[in-house]
Amino acid sequence: MRLIITEKNDAAKKIAGILAKDGVKEDSHFRVPYYHFEDGEGQETVAVGLKGHIVQVDFPPEFSEWRKVEPKALIDAPLVKTETAKFVVRTIKKLAADASALIIATDFDREGELIGLEALNLAVEENPKLARTVKRARFSALTAGEINRAFSHLDHLSEPLALAGEARQDIDLIWGATLTRFVSLATSRLGSQFLSVGRVQTPTLVLVVEREKERRAFVPEPFWVVKVELDSAGQRFSAVHKEERFVDEARATAVFEKLATPGRVTGVKQTSRKVPRPAPFNTTSFTSAATSLGYSAALAMRIAEDLYMAGHISYPRTDNTVYPSSLDLREALAVLAQGEFGREAGELLSRSELHPSRGDKRTTDHPPIYPTGSPRRGELGDRDWRLYELVARRFMATLADDAVMESNRVDLAVSGEPFVARGSRVVHAGWFDYYPYSRQKDLELPLLQKDDLVELVDKQLEAKETQPPSRYGQGTLIELMEKHNLGTKATRHAIIQNLYDRGYVHGNPVEPTEMGIKMAEALQEFAPRIASPEMTAELEKDMDLISVRDLTKAQVVTISRNLLRQAYVSLEQNREKMAARIYEGISGDRLLGDCPKCGQNKLRVIRSKATKKRFVGCEGYPDCDQTYPLPQRGDIIGMDEVCPQCGSPKIKILGGRRPWILCLDPYCPTKTEYREKREARAAAREAKGGEEGGTVAAKGAKKTVAAKKTSAAKKTATKPATKTGARRAARTTTAAAADVAGSLGVAAAPADDEA
Ligand SMILES: [Zn+2]
Ligand SMILES: [Zn+2]
Repeated sequence: MRLIITEKNDAAKKIAGILAKDGVKEDSHFRVPYYHFEDGEGQETVAVGLKGHIVQVDFPPEFSEWRKVEPKALIDAPLVKTETAKFVVRTIKKLAADASALIIATDFDREGELIGLEALNLAVEENPKLARTVKRARFSALTAGEINRAFSHLDHLSEPLALAGEARQDIDLIWGATLTRFVSLATSRLGSQFLSVGRVQTPTLVLVVEREKERRAFVPEPFWVVKVELDSAGQRFSAVHKEERFVDEARATAVFEKLATPGRVTGVKQTSRKVPRPAPFNTTSFTSAATSLGYSAALAMRIAEDLYMAGHISYPRTDNTVYPSSLDLREALAVLAQGEFGREAGELLSRSELHPSRGDKRTTDHPPIYPTGSPRRGELGDRDWRLYELVARRFMATLADDAVMESNRVDLAVSGEPFVARGSRVVHAGWFDYYPYSRQKDLELPLLQKDDLVELVDKQLEAKETQPPSRYGQGTLIELMEKHNLGTKATRHAIIQNLYDRGYVHGNPVEPTEMGIKMAEALQEFAPRIASPEMTAELEKDMDLISVRDLTKAQVVTISRNLLRQAYVSLEQNREKMAARIYEGISGDRLLGDCPKCGQNKLRVIRSKATKKRFVGCEGYPDCDQTYPLPQRGDIIGMDEVCPQCGSPKIKILGGRRPWILCLDPYCPTKTEYREKREARAAAREAKGGEEGGTVAAKGAKKTVAAKKTSAAKKTATKPATKTGARRAARTTTAAAADVAGSLGVAAAPADDEA
């Protein structure tokens, strides 16, 4: 029997369906499904899926207690592998015992190679004869064409590539665990509130913080704009004074005052320009486009992976932006033409030749992301559909013509002052027809000639200010990480999510919390190499060298241990100063805005000495006694915003995977509906409990609700723990913001949805 091992169950099922000559028989062992079939040549075959990594690297158990082990000891601690999916491991072993040949069909990248190697080792351990039979199937899409091709051109597993993946895993564990424990212990932030530091995460945080500091250092300068509204034979248009920004208010006012009808056209200019079609999608440009549709980078990648598994799009982890010549573009269009994009794909198919656009990154592992299936809109659900549509439309756009825009400029004189009106319109839509996301509305100007007179119908003098540089969106941040060689296409989105989960950043665009800012500052000062992108980029290059056999895994891990040891010395010497700096940030985050009662003082998070519970109080106490209740768990961040309904400050609570935004006042009208529901539920429970015995049952009921929330939040917290070592390094389950809800009067249902 031939045994095929894939990365996930969905892929095993799909591959079995494609390779089977007749039917597929599903079976299972310890509830792990696998698929029997005969392939085209009559070979008996079984396909089984893993759950990503089935073993994980970790420190031996004697290192697991944070308080008992000096973090420094982790730098040179031994590493052990432990099984993470026991039943999958047992199933692999059982199937391997009966197998005569082994095919590794995990995802085609460094991580997939490593997962493949892990499975291979287990299989060979059980059945040593398999060692000589191992083959590797490499494919970029779960489609019949691609799978048949891959299985008729079987390759070898690349051990150096797998070892490169393993080196990353080891290094991220050693760095993440050592630094995270050091900082968390230094600041006494243990348990769910631990502070993480990581090789990639910290330089990424620094990027966000540096931008915020630029914004804070920015001094806005006032300027004035003079605009006019004009009319030519009933057609309205606007024009701006040629000076655009007046820095002198008096001069702007003088110009504004003297403007009177009519205006005279002094010149007309028309130019046309090409707007080139976009390059094919790679991971970075895809996530960037998805975030501008409102998805978080992490969610976009998760959906993309699901779409890939379902056979709707090609492998979404790719750096490539050039379609390989082996990719049949017409076939891909023909697939699209069968679905919702029948008309658009049909138009492109009717062309005698197709010339795709190309980007400037070319790699040979995977093609750029392109659609491989044509699901129906209703089949996917809106959230997933919009990303499938994005991929499909992008693909078509790369095959369409460049667009042509016509720009018009009209120069005018109004009361002797020069004005400029600008218009633009699409004269050839080209790719805009397929990919409407970035298309701007036409701005038509009337047809005018030199010396034409136009009527002045309105004039405006606007006072404005220069703006600070804007915060990064998640997409821009991913692009920056790529530019600085921070992380990989497989990890970047998860690293950003981790910054949110740890309370270093919030919001979209990405805004650092005070704690995030102070953490970045502390590391920049006391361990600058950890905070700068250079060293981690250097390590990234070393890891690449393992895959081409220029360095061994052991060498690279040793290099990284030495770097960490050096950094650690300085951290240890400055332990107190660092902790003080981070506390400063935590304390800054406790200020929640102005007190609506006295209007003179700030509201602040306070912990009661007597009850140890936290609440919000006015700093003007005892003169002002304004207080609000708070949930007892989750980080709280002020929003610089007040609730339009009740006037109390809005806050954000971090803890689960999604933040909550709500106002402080539990009696705010925005919460009425929830409160009523909650009260009704409690009453119902009370009534039911009455049969079993009064208040005890009611108490019990309250407990179950809390427990339910915890488990739901835990699930979301552990779900994305896929391919980064960072999360694992922390070694603590992100405890949930479970009891958040009750005290503030809102539903504890963090939508697992786009932010
Ligand atoms: Zn007050
Ligand atoms: Zn409110």
